[in-house]
Amino acid sequence: MAQLRGLWKDVLATVLLSIAYFVTARLGLLMDAVAGFATLVWPPTGIALAALLLVGRRLWPGVLAGALCANLFAGASLPVALAIAIGNTLEALAGSWLLRRLAGFDPRLERIHDVLSLILLGAISSTAISATVGVVSLELGGTIGPSMSWPTFRAWWFGDMLGDLVVAPLLFVLVSRPPLARRRFLVAEAVALTALLAGCSLLVFADVQQEGGLLRQSYVIFPLLLWAALRFGQYGAVTGAFLVSAISIASTAMGAGPFVRGTLAESLLYLQTFLAVSAVTALTVAAAIAERSRAVIARDEFLAIASHELRTPLTALLLHIQGQLRSLRRNEPLGERQEALHQLESTQRMALRLAKLIGELLEVSRIVWGRFQPDREEVDLAALVHESLARQEQQLLRANCPVHLEVEGAVRGHWDRGRLDQVVDNLIGNAAKYGAGKPIEVRLRGRAEGVLLEVRDYGIGIDPADQARVFDRFERAVSRKQFGGFGLGLWISRKIVEAHGGSISLLSEPGAGSTFSVELPRSA
Ligand code: ADP
Repeated sequence: MAQLRGLWKDVLATVLLSIAYFVTARLGLLMDAVAGFATLVWPPTGIALAALLLVGRRLWPGVLAGALCANLFAGASLPVALAIAIGNTLEALAGSWLLRRLAGFDPRLERIHDVLSLILLGAISSTAISATVGVVSLELGGTIGPSMSWPTFRAWWFGDMLGDLVVAPLLFVLVSRPPLARRRFLVAEAVALTALLAGCSLLVFADVQQEGGLLRQSYVIFPLLLWAALRFGQYGAVTGAFLVSAISIASTAMGAGPFVRGTLAESLLYLQTFLAVSAVTALTVAAAIAERSRAVIARDEFLAIASHELRTPLTALLLHIQGQLRSLRRNEPLGERQEALHQLESTQRMALRLAKLIGELLEVSRIVWGRFQPDREEVDLAALVHESLARQEQQLLRANCPVHLEVEGAVRGHWDRGRLDQVVDNLIGNAAKYGAGKPIEVRLRGRAEGVLLEVRDYGIGIDPADQARVFDRFERAVSRKQFGGFGLGLWISRKIVEAHGGSISLLSEPGAGSTFSVELPRSA
């Protein structure tokens, strides 16, 4: 039943996409299309990219149908219309595939990486497919001669590019970002800014007399777009760029503004260059601001966690020491030898925990500042694992985790002993922490190309959505209240393993446990 409902939703989404594609394509083709087909205003490219990326590539028939109908209506023969539509569909499929698979694109456009990927992979590369297929089809169909190939290609490419730079970001941001906080002052500022941006765009672009004038220059728009990006982030950037595009295209089409040239196609070519630069500038500024504020939030969160994490064992440690000192000062008997030993052991545990936390913090600064070179010597990984298990014996006993160790083949190599100690301690420590009450399996395998270390637990496991990010700095997939920790252990382990030319990976299922695998080449 749910499957059927999903299918209907997909069919509906495909039909809506084809209608949106068709309507916006018709609008674009009204704009003095070069050779009747290559228009400089082509919003459907952006709509198709956003739909395939946000909903799924399975919606591609919507692009094909919309493009086919639009080209048939524009007077193309069936084979030519079909070939052009296939080009348009390939463009959307390639764009969404490249962005998702190759660039790990996030449609919220909060990282400069996402903006650059959209420009390079979407706007510049994927659009070249449709322009090439389109121009070749028109040539083969006899609609254009060789002399028209380049102007047609250029118009096609630019039009599609602008769709990806102005229309797609608007849809990405509106659909994938959480709504802005509705503070009264911000709403008033947004209204004032929109009015100002619209007013200035009209002043600059709808200047019918084409008198020019001091303030009637296109660059007047830039400070306003920057204001929008600085204060309203991605929302400001995409809506600002869209508003300016809509007003300037309409004005230029009516023969007004600074970009008017001999023909509408030529005017639009100049205007689109300006719009592409504006959109890219606004999107990049907004992403840079978002990156900075994320860094500040991460730093503040880290400071909060660090002070909490460091204070808890320190307070407990002080209490213990004070208790022991008090009994000594009162000259009371220290109690049974066993009791005294027990107290000292727990004091030692706390001190070790503190030392580990401080060690992690020191390691972060070393890694961040690039002062991190493995100091290689001959190491037997089996002996190293035995030592780690001995070091963590108490912790493993308390967590009630029996450990099974299996060694197969020779597991020697040239590695940094101290650093590998850290990796093994981290993985076994995490297995005990997140897999308490269940066994832990440690497997070592010597192969020709290197050594494999596997640490498997049967604990809480990690949700698939979190599996990649737990290897990043400060990233955690558990609540602070449930489990202590900085979220640094796996990041440090990954950095150490990578510095040895190896890799670390994870297989996990929530509730069933996790297996961390480290592959280490025997030497550099
Ligand atoms: P910490 O344990 O200090 O939070 P780590 O970098 O060692 O930091 O681990 C990052 C996150 O990965 C943890 O917060 C936890 O959510 C998850 N994690 C690590 N190891 C395991 C494991 N063996 N089982 C389940 N979750 C784990």
